[in-house]
Amino acid sequence: MTEKIRPLLAGNWKMNGTRDSLTEIKAIAEAITPAQALKVEALLCPPATLLYVTTALCQDSPLAVGAQDCHQHRSGAHTGDISAEMIADCFGTYVIVGHSERRRDHAETSELVRAKAEAAHAADLTAIICVGETLAERQQGQTIAVLQKQIEASVPQGSTAQNTVIAYEPVWAIGTGMVPQPSEIAEAHSFLRSDLVTRLGRTGKSMRLLYGGSANPSNAAALVGIENVNGLLVGGASLKAVDFIAMYGACLKQPA
Ligand code: PEP
Repeated sequence: MTEKIRPLLAGNWKMNGTRDSLTEIKAIAEAITPAQALKVEALLCPPATLLYVTTALCQDSPLAVGAQDCHQHRSGAHTGDISAEMIADCFGTYVIVGHSERRRDHAETSELVRAKAEAAHAADLTAIICVGETLAERQQGQTIAVLQKQIEASVPQGSTAQNTVIAYEPVWAIGTGMVPQPSEIAEAHSFLRSDLVTRLGRTGKSMRLLYGGSANPSNAAALVGIENVNGLLVGGASLKAVDFIAMYGACLKQPA
């Protein structure tokens, strides 16, 4: 059932980064060659305030640039929000939707996440749809049931491997230094793969499945070596160019 998939290393800067941080982005953009990017795609999602300047900085680099969230509507009276159209207008090509911090801080439901993913698709963006269980849900043996429910409600019908990436991010692993056992990640990703194939058919076989949660330069190689892990979504360790580039190197070393 495993298909050849180009892995993706995605950095999520969250609410970090000012104009001073552009030196880190420049260093990453300059480190990645077009030949490398054919093997492993690299993406940075800076805060919205840096989106346009980042895409300008990356225009000669294969480093892709995206946003961390979008509104579900194209425009209108939604103070403080940004639309998928606006991200595309800034030359962003990706948007993260349904990150657990948005689900928690803004009470975002899976239905809203699906509407955001649909808005992303309509603007020709690739949506990175995040799913993952809390610690209590894992301890109660509900991980797979939670993932199933989140995928069912968050992933639009008609999603393709080009316009959608799924990120498995156990909530308890984000920013904590705690990482699931490889067998636990393998189990979750194997479930996601088969569930997506059931829902979407052939496209589910080639949709990228990222792991996210306390990934860093020391564990990146092991994480991307797990079956059905097609890359990483990285928070804290994506902020420093040296760490992001080391993780990118670890992804490149994976056998083709
Ligand atoms: C994230 O926020 O998506 C994430 C995985 O964070 P961290 O790598 O810091 O755990």
